[in-house]
Amino acid sequence: MTTLLNETIEGLKTNVKGLVVLPDDPRYDEVREIWNAMIDRQPAVIVQCAEADDVSHAILFARNNGLEISIRGAGHNIAGNAVCDNGVMIDLSTMKNVHVDAHKRRAYVEPGATLGDFDKVAQIHGLATPVGINSTTGIAGLTLGGGFGWLTRKYGLTIDNLISAEVITADGNKIRTSETENPDLFWAIRGGGGNFGVVTEFEFDLHPVGPEILAGLIVFPFSQAKQVLTQYRKFVESAPEELNVWVVLRKAPPLPFLPEHVHGQEVVVLAVFYAGDIAEGEKLIEPLRSFGDAYGEHIGAQPYVAWQQAFDPLLTRGARNYWKSHNFTELQDGALDAIAEFAGKLPSVACEIFIGLIAGASNRISPSAMAYYHRDAKFVLNVHGRWDDVTDDERCIVWAREFFQASAPYASAGAYVNFMTEEEGDRITAAYGSNYDRLVQIKRRYDPENIFHLNQNIKP
Ligand SMILES: Cc1cc2nc3c(=O)[nH]c(=O)nc-3n(C[C@H](O)[C@H](O)[C@H](O)COP(=O)(O)OP(=O)(O)OC[C@H]3O[C@@H](n4cnc5c(N)ncnc54)[C@H](O)[C@@H]3O)c2cc1C
Repeated sequence: MTTLLNETIEGLKTNVKGLVVLPDDPRYDEVREIWNAMIDRQPAVIVQCAEADDVSHAILFARNNGLEISIRGAGHNIAGNAVCDNGVMIDLSTMKNVHVDAHKRRAYVEPGATLGDFDKVAQIHGLATPVGINSTTGIAGLTLGGGFGWLTRKYGLTIDNLISAEVITADGNKIRTSETENPDLFWAIRGGGGNFGVVTEFEFDLHPVGPEILAGLIVFPFSQAKQVLTQYRKFVESAPEELNVWVVLRKAPPLPFLPEHVHGQEVVVLAVFYAGDIAEGEKLIEPLRSFGDAYGEHIGAQPYVAWQQAFDPLLTRGARNYWKSHNFTELQDGALDAIAEFAGKLPSVACEIFIGLIAGASNRISPSAMAYYHRDAKFVLNVHGRWDDVTDDERCIVWAREFFQASAPYASAGAYVNFMTEEEGDRITAAYGSNYDRLVQIKRRYDPENIFHLNQNIKP
């Protein structure tokens, strides 16, 4: 058996243009490492793909040898499904090419590109599409689960801007999918994750953005949390969709614009983003300052790409992470009380609760238009447990779970698959609502043997 595998590995090496990395390779540990340090898995074979055909070879190699398959974009997913034990890890992280056709306002993006790779090229032309808020996140995983960020209020989810994709299916074939080519597959990959095949190219619609936008932070004392949250709720009801404001409750990082005595103290942060005329934005955000007696603020015109990296220093790889998440159609008093209570007992300096505002364009799309179902969600709340020491695991996980329970009565239905941990399989049907049955039908057609099952799995 081992000899057979050795022979086929030689065949695999001959077939692929990229690299085949085995456990005895000095690069093995570096290549198998992903963002969440709680995940430590050892694939039998890693195929670092250089082109789409490498993906086909890797799939067929895994199938012929009865090995499980995991798919890695930028390796950010909290559940850690990008890496597997004893199977084949299809590593796309070196396929990072981004091509922009500025005339057509389209971007063609390989699946290993990070949001930073994508934004950088699109912004050369003053263009962008909605993606997430941390530039090292992968475009592939983010898009396939939905994708939202600062531009979502105005331009929708990332999938709402997906025009077509190239997919390698379970039989190793390469197909194109869009509204007109294999439309059922296109419907499924817009929210259905990596269940249906390996995407080797995304085509996105682009919009004029920046290159300068107005953005920054206002930091309030934690003792004013309830009043800030209550006024925030009212403010965002009528704010224009060019304006986005998220709330983060955490211990203050040592930001230079904050007095030193505030560093390490619990604070309430408004993260502000306006993608329109700067002077108009200044007027619109003025009321935010009266929500309380701010410790300090740092807001100004800056390049969109700089703001897209603003949170990177707080979200570096290598920490231990455990997340829980809810959707909300409104922020009821009980939810705000629970947020204030649990932000008052953060179990580590890096733990945080954030409220992402997504109300706007995404709410105007029908829930049945594509796999992503919960179009009524106006806020996505993420309980972000984050710490370094393994001995803090239990304390931090219990805090996140207890807050999740305490805020659950005020949440709306469903869940965002991109924020789900590996233990949350029971939330998958809820995440897709009445779209789930159609997803099962499409899974049966494209992956009847469920070879792509290391994901938020839709069982055929
Ligand atoms: C620090 C941080 C900040 C984040 N911020 C946001 C945010 O602002 N907005 C938001 O919407 N999300 C956000 N996310 C969640 C993010 O969207 C998911 O973690 C996403 O899965 C990351 O994609 P990736 O390619 O890096 O992940 P990976 O771990 O590489 O992949 C995740 C899964 O996606 C599938 N997959 C990946 N690539 C492919 C492919 N080419 N073809 C088929 N399947 C594939 C596989 O099932 C894989 O297991 C954030 C995550 C982190 C860690």
